[in-house]
Amino acid sequence: MSERSERIGGHGAPGLSSGEGGLGTDLRNRFETAMMPNYGVPPVALARGEGCRVWDVDGNAYLDLIGGIAVSALGHAHPALVEAVSAQAGTLAHTSNLFVHEPGVRLAERLLGLLGGDGRVFFTNSGAEANEAAYKLVRRHAGPDRTYVVAADGGFHGRTMGALALTGKASIREPFGPFGADVRFVTYGSVDALREAVTGECAAVFLEPTQGEGGIVPAPEGYLAAARQICDEAGAALVIDEIQSGIGRTGVWFQHQREGIRPDVITLAKGLGGGLPIGACVGFGDYGTAFGKGDHGSTFGGNPIACAAALAVLDTIDKEGLLDHVTAVGEQLADGIAAAGHPLLARVRGAGLWRALVLSEPKSADVEAAARDAGFLVNAVKPDVIRVAPPLIITSGEVASFTAALPDILRKT
Ligand SMILES: *Cc1c(COP(=O)(O)O)cnc(C)c1O
Repeated sequence: MSERSERIGGHGAPGLSSGEGGLGTDLRNRFETAMMPNYGVPPVALARGEGCRVWDVDGNAYLDLIGGIAVSALGHAHPALVEAVSAQAGTLAHTSNLFVHEPGVRLAERLLGLLGGDGRVFFTNSGAEANEAAYKLVRRHAGPDRTYVVAADGGFHGRTMGALALTGKASIREPFGPFGADVRFVTYGSVDALREAVTGECAAVFLEPTQGEGGIVPAPEGYLAAARQICDEAGAALVIDEIQSGIGRTGVWFQHQREGIRPDVITLAKGLGGGLPIGACVGFGDYGTAFGKGDHGSTFGGNPIACAAALAVLDTIDKEGLLDHVTAVGEQLADGIAAAGHPLLARVRGAGLWRALVLSEPKSADVEAAARDAGFLVNAVKPDVIRVAPPLIITSGEVASFTAALPDILRKT
């Protein structure tokens, strides 16, 4: 074990753990007073990070196995990201869309190279905005006769009104309706349900290749290919939301590439900027040129700093061979979790560095807390599912330190 990993765990020192007094408690109290209550009060106040390690404001170290929700692809304070962002901030931080800038054009070209084929890119600041752009794009392309869109139960596409209208999780959507959009939800993974729902009046189908917020639920094999065929037959657009699954998360650049399909539109965000806010909506073929001049825009979207960060992420994934690394350590992670052999752990699912620990009881909040006490940050994404989505640079030794600690974490839950 490295010197640093020895500092992980054993947060038993009284008064030091977050929530037990000290600077963290003070900051959390101020958060509660100053911030809207939509997030509750998070349990830990973080101060800094390095690689896959983060430290809270009281100096406790944690192994970060959630990476800001599948965002911090290069971990924390990666030199390539620090250098790219610093250099761009010192050169040209912002232009607005009134002017062209080189990092933006280069990033668009780079993404199109990774995706293959003839596409066009629109940059945003977030995932929800990427899906808003996609929604407007398919509406623009479809015209008024195609009156509705199809999305999946359990799906998640973001919190703004358009993206929320597409989001299948009723508990977060329904309090905010009506949406002024005809969205029809189908059972995720059912080809028959999709075939029935998609007619000549359907403008588009929105799907995640794996439902991330839904608990890392992969589509059944062949589902995306069937969706492609169904959309082709009905003349509807296939929009694949790769906001969580993309940028190497599963060991390939984009998860839909595993199925050999070509979507009409894909959306990206999360890992793309490695922690800087950037998203993208990519349209292929006709969809790349469906927006006319003036149809859409964003003041900050794809600003030079965010684009420089994304270029650093893509370059580093390439140069450090991170796709193969994700596959290898991802398998180690899944095998190590499965080997925990505790009755609370029903099974592991997911791919690459994107794994769900499916519990036999709805105790994920307790597992998350026990993991945190042991020095590991994981995420209770559903009452019976723990999500693990660490930085793509996580080492085999770091994975091993978590899987070794897991039986004890489950025992203490
Ligand atoms: C996180 C996420 C979004 C929303 O992204 P934000 O940046 O939070 O707006 C949309 N779709 C999927 C699949 C996501 O995981």
